[in-house]
Amino acid sequence: MTARDRYPQLEVDLGKLKENLTALKERCQDSFVGIIGVVKGVNAWPAVVREFDAAGFSYLATSRVDQLRKMREQGVQTPLMLIRIPMRTELADVVSLADASLQSDMDMLRATDAEAARQGKTHGVLLMIDLGDLREGFWSAEELVDAAVEVETKLKHLHLLGVGVNLSCYGSIRPDKRNMQGLSSLALEVEQAIGRPVEFVSGGASTSTYMVLDGTMPYRVNNLRLGEILLVGRANYGCDPDFTHRDAFTLRAEVIECRDKPSFPVGQLTVDAFGREGHYEDRGIRRRALIAVGKVDYGDPADLFPRMSGVEVLGASSDHTILDVEAVKDRIKVGDILEFDVNYASLVNLTNTPGVFLVSKE
Ligand SMILES: *Cc1c(COP(=O)(O)O)cnc(C)c1O
Repeated sequence: MTARDRYPQLEVDLGKLKENLTALKERCQDSFVGIIGVVKGVNAWPAVVREFDAAGFSYLATSRVDQLRKMREQGVQTPLMLIRIPMRTELADVVSLADASLQSDMDMLRATDAEAARQGKTHGVLLMIDLGDLREGFWSAEELVDAAVEVETKLKHLHLLGVGVNLSCYGSIRPDKRNMQGLSSLALEVEQAIGRPVEFVSGGASTSTYMVLDGTMPYRVNNLRLGEILLVGRANYGCDPDFTHRDAFTLRAEVIECRDKPSFPVGQLTVDAFGREGHYEDRGIRRRALIAVGKVDYGDPADLFPRMSGVEVLGASSDHTILDVEAVKDRIKVGDILEFDVNYASLVNLTNTPGVFLVSKE
């Protein structure tokens, strides 16, 4: 049996993926915005990485060193960027595997410079500013500008690529004109302080794309770091373009039981396998299907979307997902394969667990 006959199975349709990459690259290019292609959402899955590598992005990026190594071993041609602030304990790998990294700390910048000197390399750095989302980044613009000047004038093995911001990841702050203009003015301050223009003014991730599409992105913002919208064709905060595929990825799972059962548990109610209280609606006897895929594979059953209408996800434990199939009871039996759309959350999980068979469709 090949992976194609094994389940749970996650399939990528490379044609649809490529169309997403091309369409978004063109739309961004029209607004003079370049793309850093982020592959952490699929654990640097080689078939997906190949498409990203062919798309002509300025960098391919991920948050993990093991994925950088995987991409190097695959022979990726596009320069690589670590889009998480590096750990001190991984600096040697970061410098040897990545061409650039995000940075937010002066001591780390000095340590990165020293490591690059040791390896006889020049390492690119994008200085991050925190404009309210409260994840990574300098909090003070002044401190960032001072860091930029030190990188430019003293740290000879670093190359200052520019400035960037991350939003909507922890603090759920929406990218808007205000924070994007804040980023633009910061870029200007840095440029005045170092006496040259910077290459990258990076205005965030997929959630910033809507501003490029609706023409409200300040012109000085010339880069986005995109993963989600390229992979699943959409992002939060109303970024639902009508020209992207949402179904480039398909999860397939096998039905291992299908029978009529009560919809309300029988006996004393306590907590589920994860220690949580369940909520069950008594809808009488209904046809239920069990599929052999669970929370260990995808995380949260709310992030699975059955393709067959009439199929409803009721819940899950580690290795089982329970479906209500009453509306389609004559169409489902043991051994059937059911298909699901995934979102970014389930995609990240499915590609980071060894139990899922990854296959690609040309
Ligand atoms: C994950 C990440 C991105 C890409 O985010 P998407 O939502 O997948 O577009 C961009 N920048 C940073 C710093 C990230 O950590």
